Amino acid sequence: MGFNEVRKDYLLDRWVVIATERGRRPSDFAGKVREKAKTGVCPMCPGNEHMTPPAVLVYLKHGKVIRKTTDKDDTRHKNWAIRVIPNLFPAFSPPKDKTSQRKIAKRPEMISAVGHHEVLVESPNHDEHPADARLPQLEYVVDAYVDRLRELTAKPYVEYVSIFRNHGLEAGASLSHAHSQIIATPFIPKTVEDELKASKRYWKHNKKCVFCEIIRKEREGPRLVLGNSKFVVIAPYASANPMEFWIMPKKHEATLLDMPKGNVEAFAETLRTCLGRLKRLVNDPPYNYGFHLAIDKDARSYYHWHLEVYPRLAIWAGFEKSTGIYINTIAPEAAAESLRRTISS
Ligand SMILES: [Zn+2]
Ligand SMILES: [Zn+2]
Ligand SMILES: [Zn+2]
Repeated sequence: MGFNEVRKDYLLDRWVVIATERGRRPSDFAGKVREKAKTGVCPMCPGNEHMTPPAVLVYLKHGKVIRKTTDKDDTRHKNWAIRVIPNLFPAFSPPKDKTSQRKIAKRPEMISAVGHHEVLVESPNHDEHPADARLPQLEYVVDAYVDRLRELTAKPYVEYVSIFRNHGLEAGASLSHAHSQIIATPFIPKTVEDELKASKRYWKHNKKCVFCEIIRKEREGPRLVLGNSKFVVIAPYASANPMEFWIMPKKHEATLLDMPKGNVEAFAETLRTCLGRLKRLVNDPPYNYGFHLAIDKDARSYYHWHLEVYPRLAIWAGFEKSTGIYINTIAPEAAAESLRRTISS
């Protein structure tokens, strides 16, 4: 019997044991009964807008045209297509007044959690998740990500904006209405910082973007999930999660703000296709996804935005938690093959 492979991430100093000796197949994960969030009055459903704080962004649909607006103190817009609302229990909250914007309390071991924490309601339809959303609706979601990213990155105290999605109770979505979250922080999170540093180093030595190189290599190989004219989807070499995949723009772009308007539809379609296949292949598994992007203009040349999708099919227990080494029982090559073969609908 051969040894399992211990693989290093493309950029991070993170190691994963690809434990294929256990002989698990992607379909082995399909039989699990998914826990559902409690049903009750949904604060995100149309008609319940008064249950939330005023929206910081509302998309109102007039025929084919979208009008963008905000709620005022005690008024709430109805008949919306997208709503972005402040989180009721924010992890990061905005400064109280203008003068405190630049004076963020800071000690070597403490920073005030100044920032923003928002919930993006993706559709008036409770169950319109990206795996089977209407394409134009999913384009609004992506447009709204970009709108919030633009507004939040412009704030002097914001150093990073994390756009992410939790799907399913086991992945942390306590409300089942289709939604994403946005957290703006006064520092760059460690994982992104590590990717930035490593890709900067690669750029200095090779005068090339490391992500462009990853795309060039992986699109010919066994870890390619799909490629179209604008995006490439791969199961990364050292996937920490079973069935993990990343969506990357083919053209070099450092942040979602660099994405040409014309690529929004292609991105929404790529996202829907991949999540649709994952849903059919593994019976609507819980998952998390998050964008990695560069806010700093200096990173334009060497950083390349991407979306990382982490299905929640394994439980990280004692070994993972105490060592930071992950055990993945599905080789990314097998994950890519299954995702390639599955027809999304
Ligand atoms: Zn709802
Ligand atoms: Zn690149
Ligand atoms: Zn990344």
